[in-house]
Amino acid sequence: MPQKSGPSPAEKTLSLGCVLCHDGAKMVLFVTGRCRRACWYCPLSRERKGRDVVFANDREVTSPSDIIEEAEVMSALGTGVTGGEPLLVPDRVVEYCTLLKEHFGPDHHIHLYTGTAPDEAMLRRLQGLVDEVRLHPPHETWPEILDTGYARSAVLARQMGFSIGIEVPSLPGIGALAPALPLLDFLNINELEWGETCAAAMRERGLELEDGLHNAVLGARGWAEELPFDPKIHFCSSVFKDSVQLRERLKRIASNTARPFEEVTDDGTVVYGVLEPAGSPDGLLDDLSEDDYEIREGRIEMAWWVLADNAARVPGRKYVVERYPNGGMVVEVTPL
Ligand code: SF4
Repeated sequence: MPQKSGPSPAEKTLSLGCVLCHDGAKMVLFVTGRCRRACWYCPLSRERKGRDVVFANDREVTSPSDIIEEAEVMSALGTGVTGGEPLLVPDRVVEYCTLLKEHFGPDHHIHLYTGTAPDEAMLRRLQGLVDEVRLHPPHETWPEILDTGYARSAVLARQMGFSIGIEVPSLPGIGALAPALPLLDFLNINELEWGETCAAAMRERGLELEDGLHNAVLGARGWAEELPFDPKIHFCSSVFKDSVQLRERLKRIASNTARPFEEVTDDGTVVYGVLEPAGSPDGLLDDLSEDDYEIREGRIEMAWWVLADNAARVPGRKYVVERYPNGGMVVEVTPL
């Protein structure tokens, strides 16, 4: 972390996009996996890298209405537009941001990540749709940052009323970005993360994982300390993204979508029991109200504790499922 002492988090200049993200209230809108750059540390997965696909959070988008549905399901207060390079598909960015602002109102906060240095014409297209621009200057430009198009974009964007910042991974040499701070509203540093498509490049550079549990790269925190103390600087740890941000988003989704018999955990997952009946389950179902169970493809889903209490009464396979809410990824299946 670049600062060991100084103002509390509340006193720091955290961008509004980050504040909403902290609460799990930002939908991540991935507008394309295409990008003309080839950063060796690019974190994109195989599923997305180089592919012209759209995802709202983890849901692949086949029509714009999917975006609104996903935002509604998590009660999103804002959206982060990312990629790939979103400004390779500016019409798409404009279309989706217009849709979101029209549906949720102008207060729906939108931040846009870009590896380009948008010019005035591009910024004009984004005005009124994007509230916050996050520039990602390539690593090799950092030593001369004030002489790059990124510095010019930052000045222009600020004059045009955007909140403007730089967002980069923590890499050696990050201290060179310090002269850009007066031009910016914030400088976000993402802890460098190991990824499936950049693992070989990381190994070539002698990098290794910090531990066996998280994706953080050993030493990445230390590189961020090259920057001087400044309240505009915010370090976003890999653990924070994996745990707090995701957990808060899952909780929002669970509170909107959990069935009456599902238990919502502190991690935002839902837990329920499943019976694959080997005989008639009528004896059990007669004791339950309609809201207490659901039949899906021959399986009866109900509160896990109801199933546990009645396990001896009903023949068949019985187990407890923990998964992400709204039919999301299964985390654990425990036989009863
Ligand atoms: S600009 Fe972003 S998406 Fe493009 S290669 Fe670099 S890290 Fe990946």
